[in-house]
Amino acid sequence: MLLPKFDFHAPETVNEACQMLSEYGLKAKLIAGGTDLMVNMKKKILAPEQIISISQIRELDHLDVSGDRILIGAGVTVADLCESKTIAGYLPALGQGANNLGTPLIRNLATIGGNIGSARPAADLPPGLMAYGAEVVLQSKAGIRTLPLDNFFLGPGFTALQPDEILTEIRILVPPAGSGAAYVNIGIRKAQDCNLVNVASYFALDSNGIIQNARVVMGCVGPKPFRAVSAEKILIGQKPDIQLFEKAGEAASADSQPIDDFRSCATYKRSMVGVLTQRTLQQAWTRIKNQE
Ligand SMILES: Cc1cc2nc3c(=O)[nH]c(=O)nc-3n(C[C@H](O)[C@H](O)[C@H](O)COP(=O)(O)OP(=O)(O)OC[C@H]3O[C@@H](n4cnc5c(N)ncnc54)[C@H](O)[C@@H]3O)c2cc1C
Repeated sequence: MLLPKFDFHAPETVNEACQMLSEYGLKAKLIAGGTDLMVNMKKKILAPEQIISISQIRELDHLDVSGDRILIGAGVTVADLCESKTIAGYLPALGQGANNLGTPLIRNLATIGGNIGSARPAADLPPGLMAYGAEVVLQSKAGIRTLPLDNFFLGPGFTALQPDEILTEIRILVPPAGSGAAYVNIGIRKAQDCNLVNVASYFALDSNGIIQNARVVMGCVGPKPFRAVSAEKILIGQKPDIQLFEKAGEAASADSQPIDDFRSCATYKRSMVGVLTQRTLQQAWTRIKNQE
């Protein structure tokens, strides 16, 4: 399959890239690792006339802890996330998503910004990021704005990103002591397959061991990754235990909106939301207990 014709640009700064986006508007598309965009171009789903590569922009490659925040540049590759001690130490649920994404070849090219930008409902990184309460930084020639990742996804392939904006950074508050999170996905095969269901859960305990904050995020069971609000309500104010996690799993199942497709029926996916919610909560709790 041949690619459609396009002009290629490789700016070295975010400002330069923003200038190009404002000049070319809807004719342009950003490319990072290309593992999603190239497939869509080969399938003729997209045919941008101007391709702006951001892979030469070093400002997008950072992964740091700054004060009470973890800052991840949009150009950080999935392989970098897998190897990062910061991710393993502070954000293990994001690390689990990264380690489950594609194959080593894909992980070497694929970026966190591209995984978010592609807005696939089954993508591996958004549930973990949303469970940690991530926000995204969007830059254009006009300036910079931040948005909770919860509000970024609009539907399959659609986001709140304006045509002249670049996602430059993901910001996450350092999770407090007494908090834990986990991510679990299932697919028909172990690798090289789209997820059937994926869930990430996070909760934080107060000094009395009561859950004071909880986020449960489901993928593949709606047009975008979204929070199981009923499950979160069940968790908050309670002491963690297996019966509570079961109830939260049932509530998450009820919140999910799966559809029948060639991979599986909606009934199976709905029931797996319950199972994965329980599993992620249990893993998160184990992580909290291991801190003690
Ligand atoms: C064989 C194969 C297996 C795969 N397996 C998985 C998997 O298991 N799990 C999974 O989640 N995904 C999977 N993918 C999809 C893809 O690899 C990931 O979504 C990847 O993270 C995309 O990152 P990228 O840098 O390659 O994005 P690109 O293809 O470069 O870009 C994807 C989209 O995001 C936009 N974009 C990229 N960077 C930015 C930015 N900084 N700001 C704004 N917009 C931006 C682009 O314009 C484009 O629309 C797979 C793909 C292939 C080909």
